[in-house]
Amino acid sequence: MSPMSPMSPMSPVSPVSPMTQDYLEIRGLRVVFDGFVAVDGVDLTVLQGDLRFLIGPNGAGKTTLVDAVTGLTPATGSARLDGVELIGRRVHQIARAGVGRTFQTASVFEELTVLQNLDIAAGALRSWPSLLRARRSVPPNVEAAMETTGLAGLRNRRAGELAHGQKQWLEIGMLLVQDAKVLLLDEPVAGMSAEERELTGELLHTVRRDHIVVVVEHDMEFLRAYADSVTVLAAGKVLAEGTYAQVQGDPRVQEVYLGPSESREPADVTAAGGGS
Ligand code: ADP
Ligand code: MG
Repeated sequence: MSPMSPMSPMSPVSPVSPMTQDYLEIRGLRVVFDGFVAVDGVDLTVLQGDLRFLIGPNGAGKTTLVDAVTGLTPATGSARLDGVELIGRRVHQIARAGVGRTFQTASVFEELTVLQNLDIAAGALRSWPSLLRARRSVPPNVEAAMETTGLAGLRNRRAGELAHGQKQWLEIGMLLVQDAKVLLLDEPVAGMSAEERELTGELLHTVRRDHIVVVVEHDMEFLRAYADSVTVLAAGKVLAEGTYAQVQGDPRVQEVYLGPSESREPADVTAAGGGS
């Protein structure tokens, strides 16, 4: 059973049965760097089917939160995937438990093709020579990932020759073939063209059906178009949570993030788009 109230305003009607719905439950998460508290007691619950955006001014702790959940940064508190504790486990154990993430700079093997990158991510038990040979049959999960990410027609293209957006989609495809239950995407549309953004939004809407998806993003237009729900971080704490409209209408959010009140400097000039 999900521990969350099914009638929570944060839970949109989901196409999946609550009995089988994956969930990520973060409680009291805290990261301290040399006495500086970067993540300060964050509680965050994300259900499969809910495309969650995580926003906040630069330095709010968004990337650090992702690093903590994926084991890259030591943290205290709790982050559980379907009830299984992640905090305190090693990076590869957390990945194996089903938590996948992307970085702003896509980390694909540039010299290998789309198909080879996906094959490696799928952990196909083959030698490098067999991976590098042209193949007749493609594993069904790899084929499905290429279809989902729109890269099927580019399967034999070297990853280094892909457009920026296509590399991000390949990275998402690599998480799909790894059977990640959780996709933590750090600024996936930064640097993308308008068309690439739209395709990415559609891709996220597809993958949220059977994944827990958390997107760190700066671009407010993208957020408005695709977010099911939004969590606002500021100074390491959750400032607000709700739909785009709820968060956007929250005066505290407007003050720190979405726009200045008369007496304030903008907290983040990248909020209007771009991101860095
Ligand atoms: P965001 O992704 O929201 O822009 P970050 O999570 O990158 O913010 O950073 C949160 C805060 O933690 C910032 O003040 C940043 O300078 C600090 N920080 C991040 N990583 C480290 C680190 N490895 N050592 C010390 N301070 C860090
Ligand atoms: Mg960041």
